Parts: sequence; C-alpha cells; structure tokens
Amino acid sequence: MTMVHEKTVLKNFIGGRWVDAEAAGTAPVYNPATGEVIAETPLSTAADVARAVEAAKAAYERWRKVPVIKRARLLYAYLERLRREREALARMITTEHGKSLADALAEVDRGIESVEHATAAPTLMMGDALAEVAEGLEQTTYRYPLGVVASITPFNFPAMIPLWVIPWAVVTGNALILKPSEQTPMTTLRLVELLHEVGLPDGVVNVVNGAKEAVDALLAHPDIVAVNFTGSQKTAAYVYETAARYGKRVQAFSGAKNHAVVLEDAVLAPTIDGILRAAFGNGGQRCMATSVVVAVEGIADDLVERLADGARKLKVGSGFEEGVELTPLIREEHRRRVLSYIEEGEKQARLVVDGREAMSRFPRGFYLGATVFDRVTPEMRLWQEEIFGPVLSVVRVRDLDEAIAVTNRSRYANGAILYTQSGKAARRFREEIDAGMVGINVNIPLPVAFFPFGGHKDSFYGVIGENGKDIVQFFTRKKTVSSRWF
Ligand code: NAD
Repeated sequence: MTMVHEKTVLKNFIGGRWVDAEAAGTAPVYNPATGEVIAETPLSTAADVARAVEAAKAAYERWRKVPVIKRARLLYAYLERLRREREALARMITTEHGKSLADALAEVDRGIESVEHATAAPTLMMGDALAEVAEGLEQTTYRYPLGVVASITPFNFPAMIPLWVIPWAVVTGNALILKPSEQTPMTTLRLVELLHEVGLPDGVVNVVNGAKEAVDALLAHPDIVAVNFTGSQKTAAYVYETAARYGKRVQAFSGAKNHAVVLEDAVLAPTIDGILRAAFGNGGQRCMATSVVVAVEGIADDLVERLADGARKLKVGSGFEEGVELTPLIREEHRRRVLSYIEEGEKQARLVVDGREAMSRFPRGFYLGATVFDRVTPEMRLWQEEIFGPVLSVVRVRDLDEAIAVTNRSRYANGAILYTQSGKAARRFREEIDAGMVGINVNIPLPVAFFPFGGHKDSFYGVIGENGKDIVQFFTRKKTVSSRWF
C-alpha cells in the first residue's frame, strides 16, 4: 500500500497512481485536538487538473461501455473492503477532523449505506418504454453517463460526503475528479485508494488536492460536464454561478441555520437531550446541526434552564476520549470566527452558558465549550448567520404560527424540526415550513440513502438533490428513441 502520509506532503491520485502535484504551495492539515500539523495538502494548479482530466477522459471511453451490472459488482467488493476498514477510517476522520470516534463511525456507516444503495444501479438506471405510442411506433428512453464529472467536498464529513458521490458517479458510468477539502483530505484519499484495491480501473476516479485554484480550474475546464459541490454558502453560490456560466450541470449544497421548534406539549427529557446532541455534536460543525431553538413562551423558561444545565455538563475533550460529547473546532482561525459571534452576541442577547470558560482547560487544540444564548431575535447576526460552532440561540415566540413565521424568515432552509405530541401541530408544521428536510421529534432529520437529500432557499443551489433516485438523475442523461419497422 502506497500510504498517503509516508511523506508529509500529500499526493494527488491520477490515472491509478500517486503523483506529486505541480502545486506551488501547500496548506497544513491539523490534528484539531492537539493543534499539531500532521500533513500538508498541495495546492494543485490548472496543470494538475488538466492532467487528471486527461486520465479521466481516457478511462471514461472504456468505463462507460462496461455493463452496469459489472460496475455494480465492483461496489459489492468495495462494500466488503469498507466494512473491514470501518474502524481505521473512523480513526483517520477523528485524527484529521477532531470529531468523536462514535460520530466518525456513524459517518462511515452513513457512507457505506450509500454504497449499498448504489449496488441497485441496474434497476435505478432503467429507462421507460411504450410499445405503441402511435400505430407501429415505439418509444424507449435510455439513461447514459455524462462523461467526466467533478466533485468538490467540505471538511466536515470527509468520508460520508465523498461516499455520497463516488459510488454513484462510478456505477452510472462516469469518470470522476474529486477535490476534497484541503483541511481534511486524508480520509478521502484513503477511500479512493481502497476502491482501486478492489479493482476499479485506473483513471475512473482521480483526486486532485487543493483549494480555490484547483476548483476554478475544474469549473473552467471544457471537458468536465458536471459539478457536484458541498460547502459554505458563499462558495456554493460562486460554484453554482461559475459552473453554470461554463455550461455545466451543477448541484451545490450550501450552508444552514436549522431551527428546532419546541411546543408546550413536547416530551421534555428526550427533547433536551436531542437538541443538545444536534447542537453540540461534532462541535456544531454539521450542516444539519440545530443552531436555533424556537421556544413557545409557556415553556421557554423551563426549557432554557434545562438546556443550559445540560450544556454545562457536556463532556468536552478529544474525539478519542470515551464518552466525549463536544470535540474541538477544525482550526484556530475558525474558533476565532466563532468567538467573534459570542463577543457580539453577549452585547445583544442574554448569554446563559459561556463556552469560552472551557478554553483554559485545553492549552493545546482548538477547543470551545458549549455556548447558549437566550432572547435572541431575527435582528441579530446570531440568528441570521451560520456560525458552524457550538453556539445555540433561543428565540422566544407566542405560538406555533409565530414559530413557523420566524423559521421561514431565515435565508437558509436545510432542516427544520418540531418537538410536540400533537399530530395536528405536526401536520401544520409539515405543510407550512419551508425546509428540505423536516423532523418531527427527530433531532437530525437526515434522510437515509434511499431518500433524497437537499435543502431549500440558500441551503441548496440546483434542482436535483443527492441520494435517493435523484443522484442517478444527476449523474445520467437520457436519450429517447422512436422506432418504426416497415
Ligand atoms: P468551504 O466552502 O470553505 O469549502 C468547501 C470546498 O470549497 C472545499 O473543497 C474548498 O477547498 C473549496 N473552496 C473554499 N473556498 C473556495 C473559493 N473561494 N473558491 C472555490 N472553492 C473554494 O466549506 P467548508 O468550511 O469546508 O464546509 C463547511 C460548510 O459546508 C458549512 O457552511 C456547511 O453548512 C456546509 N455543508 C453543507 C452541507 C449540505 O449538504 N448542505 C453538508 C456539509 C457541509
């Protein structure tokens, strides 16, 4: 095995081989629990991207002709390999990202679920046929791969998000160029290496490391026909617009500000527990994290007190510690950004739990404790912007109607949750709430791999989501044939 971190500077993976990037510079990969630099990501250039595109183009011409059933069989072998490597992959995630080992294992499992689903490609790729659209005339729709496609992924799920893309791009017959986050590239590189160990032909999946320069080259390259992106709102909007300008098919999954509405009849113990997990797990660095609690006045005092109590008791520590509940942030720079929201927020809202107090216990690493604000309003940046850290804001409202109105004012609309025992309220929430993924007493309403994933408004730019049947649509195009025989 040509392991990726034999050398400190990571390599690109192109045409089935590890190659040095022509990059001028590198970006450090940290262990967020210690603050140590564990590798350097090369910042690849347009020349590196061009090299990957050449390899992918050559591979595509052969790969698109391999019957889908054979492409799916390769995924069965990949599944076995991933299951065997599950713990090693999770440890790699915890090392480069910082999240708890339990969260890392869950992430790998959600990725494996996507590979399982992708083995159903032979049926999912079927088209439609009608024997007699007119006398003697038949019509048949077939699905075909697109060609060379690209995927640009974020730091916070270095296994799950690539695994939502790799098996689908591959099983539908495309050739893929992956550009993982420069902050957490190692797990993704290992996933691609494993796929080659079970027999993926060279060049079908390639990895180009880097950041903006590599992304810009992918967006502009005339031989890349589709772009899948996940990341922050600003970058998502930029990628969406730029890829579209170059005539590419594009889906861009973006930022979030997920609201959890709590009504008076909610069962409080599991609700509190669920909100704490959804707000502070992974250091709040999840696109499905709960970052705003909308509490109806009747229970707001009790709810805030119990949330605060729970937040103070959360176990802060390294992802490798048993039972840890709050792990470090990805970078010092990101921690400073989160701190700036706390500093501004304490002048405007009521700071109930101050996560800064936990910092002194950790001389190394990018730790920040759980922070809870009460009496936050939509006029504050605390409510408006994605903080992506362990900061929970409570907004107080009169009733369900006002709760829905506040939630729907957000520019983001990824997930929204309602805690209640009332079927009537749940139905109203489902009908009126503007969000792509809705939870009723479910803390993180992440659809399983068989259902589509995607938000509304500024949480998603595009038409076709990930997972479910959507992802097959994204990675294929149709041809409808009309035939008549004399
Ligand atoms: P990010 O936008 O900083 O980076 C995402 C990717 O874009 C990376 O590969 C990065 O190298 C690249 N990139 C960064 N800046 C760029 C630029 N100016 N031009 C071109 N490319 C650029 O995001 P992140 O910090 O890695 O990830 C966290 C964000 O991702 C959060 O906003 C989170 O909500 C979002 N996210 C969304 C989903 C979803 O499904 N909606 C899932 C996970 C994460």
